[in-house]
Amino acid sequence: MTLELESFELLYESLKHLDAGFRNLPEFTPKVDLERMQRVLEEVTERMQDNYPYPHPLYAGQMLKPPHPVARLAYALAMWINPNNHALDGGRASSVMEKEAVAEIAHMYGWEDHLGHLCGGGTMANMEALWVAGRLRPGRKIVASSQAHYTHRRISEVLQLDFASVPVDTRARIDLNALEKILRQGNVGTVVATLGTTGCGSVDPLHEILDLQQHYGFRVHVDAAYGGYFALVDNLDSDAQASFDHLNQVDSIVVDPHKHGLQPYGCGCVLFRDPAVGTIYKHDSPYTYFSSNELHLGEISLECSRPGASAVGLWATLRLLPLVKSGEFAEGLARCRNAACSLFQYLKGDSRFLTVFPPELDIIVWAPRAAKSSTISKLSRAYFEQAAEAHLHLALVDLPAELARPHWAGVGFDEPAVTCLRSCLMKPEHFEWIDRIWSILKRIADSNRKTKRNYEKSNLGN
Ligand SMILES: *Cc1c(COP(=O)(O)O)cnc(C)c1O
Repeated sequence: MTLELESFELLYESLKHLDAGFRNLPEFTPKVDLERMQRVLEEVTERMQDNYPYPHPLYAGQMLKPPHPVARLAYALAMWINPNNHALDGGRASSVMEKEAVAEIAHMYGWEDHLGHLCGGGTMANMEALWVAGRLRPGRKIVASSQAHYTHRRISEVLQLDFASVPVDTRARIDLNALEKILRQGNVGTVVATLGTTGCGSVDPLHEILDLQQHYGFRVHVDAAYGGYFALVDNLDSDAQASFDHLNQVDSIVVDPHKHGLQPYGCGCVLFRDPAVGTIYKHDSPYTYFSSNELHLGEISLECSRPGASAVGLWATLRLLPLVKSGEFAEGLARCRNAACSLFQYLKGDSRFLTVFPPELDIIVWAPRAAKSSTISKLSRAYFEQAAEAHLHLALVDLPAELARPHWAGVGFDEPAVTCLRSCLMKPEHFEWIDRIWSILKRIADSNRKTKRNYEKSNLGN
């Protein structure tokens, strides 16, 4: 069995318990038409089978991690109430749970006082952080590395703030010299540091960015949508570790519980170090329902309606797996990283493959070796298909030639970008499955000897 179904009975038990809380109300039994619903659900089930097998360890492609069963159940349980965390009137219990859960995430970065809340995802969370940044540094530029998430440029467009992209170093981290050149030109309001880039999992050197901040006085926003939870592990390289160690000094942080935090989609989180930024959100809407003097989450967020169920799922997960160093959750993340490091060692030791740089978190990028980058791209795509036939699901990433060139001596670059294979090894189980994953990759390499020769011959003809 691939899907975890064992925990499902807990949901029914918990729902009966939840229902008992309303037993003092006059009798009211909602009607359902089970027969018609069943027919629809059969169709839904058929449709849903057309998906990659995300929960299985042989799904080692995009940034997709199965939610924890307790998150799924708590989220589903909350759906019988369907709270709206915009205001306490819409979700009293779930708003309190959100504040507690967000405080625990802030605490992971050493922040006792903070302002923050959940939101739809990393994009929304970054938008909110950059909106606040723009309010505090009006008319000034946002800068982020060329490997930062593509939405930063777009968010800046929406906010009508200028945006500049900074080149990266040979490990896909923001290039500090290039950054300083832009800073010297002036008018930079905010630097976005990415702790865990989406493509390669690289960690920008935050401590050095903070040194530059001393001199140039910009705001520092950290996009840790994917990487944020790695603050808890004890097996990072010293450079990445130093960046995570400095997170408490930045102005705002984005982390996605729906990336590495075991939550269903629709769960991002934005945090501000200075709670006073809350005043920027002031609005005066006749439609909202802020009936008490306590803080309603809608008063400190850009979005209005939000699923209280997200907060309930997250809160339940944090009860089961607290965000502590050396805890069960941290151990799971450390295993993901070990999985990526093991696969890197295997690939590095086999001359049929090319690697770029060692993984900084748990994403790894590699490619089949060939003489020209265009052949490498074709082979990567062929491997992607062949691996899928063997039930191993990988991802593809286009690396700019400048990023691959320093690592691939002897390869001729005949195109501006090269398509590589990419794996996000985000499940702790990936660690036990690495040998099997590796044996599938080796088999593909064996069977591709001829394909590669054909590609190389056709290349000579061009
Ligand atoms: C995924 C990701 C985002 C976007 O987050 P969504 O939740 O997909 O909206 C932003 N930044 C980084 C670094 C990411 O990995």
